[in-house]
Amino acid sequence: MAYDLTRDKAFFGFSPEVEPVLRAAQGVELKLTTHDCFSGQLKTTADTLQTLDWSITNPATGPIYIEGAKPGDILRVDLHEVVAHGPSVMVAVPEVGALGHLITEEETVIVEHDGDSVVFKDKVRVKQKPMLGVIGVAPAEGTIPNSTPGGHGGNMDCTLVTSGASLYFTVAVDGALFGCGDMHAVMGDGEVVICGAETPGEVRLTPQVVDIPDLPTPFLENDEIVAVIASAETTDAAYKMALDMMHGFLTKVAGLPANDAALLMSLVGNLKFCQVVDPLLTVRFEFPKSVLADYGFTMPR
Ligand code: CA
Ligand code: ZN
Repeated sequence: MAYDLTRDKAFFGFSPEVEPVLRAAQGVELKLTTHDCFSGQLKTTADTLQTLDWSITNPATGPIYIEGAKPGDILRVDLHEVVAHGPSVMVAVPEVGALGHLITEEETVIVEHDGDSVVFKDKVRVKQKPMLGVIGVAPAEGTIPNSTPGGHGGNMDCTLVTSGASLYFTVAVDGALFGCGDMHAVMGDGEVVICGAETPGEVRLTPQVVDIPDLPTPFLENDEIVAVIASAETTDAAYKMALDMMHGFLTKVAGLPANDAALLMSLVGNLKFCQVVDPLLTVRFEFPKSVLADYGFTMPR
């Protein structure tokens, strides 16, 4: 049996207090629709952040109670397909985001979708690479607004969270209370103006508890690389966290000697920005799977 969940079943903060809208068995495919990060409120260029109802921004579809997921477990979420429905919207707003000091006029841009591309102002075609900005599980206590990334996942705005990727989270509450949303049809690393091509969309995914002791999370895997994702108040603090997480993975999980891990992180690892505009800033550290294979390690499936 597969499960369908629609975007009207949304929540706005990851929390053990939010009632799940669905109970799903592990290993079964879920099909979700998601709103854009403004809950569809910006429909024309005349709609701006001035008239926005902020209480319904950054919706995530869910939360979903994953049967059998217990605190301390690792939850793997395989993203089979992330599809942007369009149209997308972008906003430039004075004093907002990393470029706000250079923006003098507020502007809302509707970005039309055409086939597998988006079209910016009838001038620029950009191939879509649909990704989820918000994805995660509930923390043990309190509420983390969906605007904010962290150890639970949340608003990481990582361009690798796309079709074919697997995400790993540490479960903090019974059932994990998973959710996702904030799809971008395409986005650059950094998300510097405060948004990507913000779009409603559809996701097919399968959640599954896996046994990988010492895995640092949030963790991501695709065909080529593994990556750790770290969020902190500064990019300096975030990158230091990411380096420690990846070194921990390479030594404790993949079994590399400490110096080999460090040297290879410097030789073939890549430190990259995810976003620099959310309440905490997010970076990732990527490491090639082919090198893990050279040490006889493959991610357990
Ligand atoms: Ca976002
Ligand atoms: Zn977004």
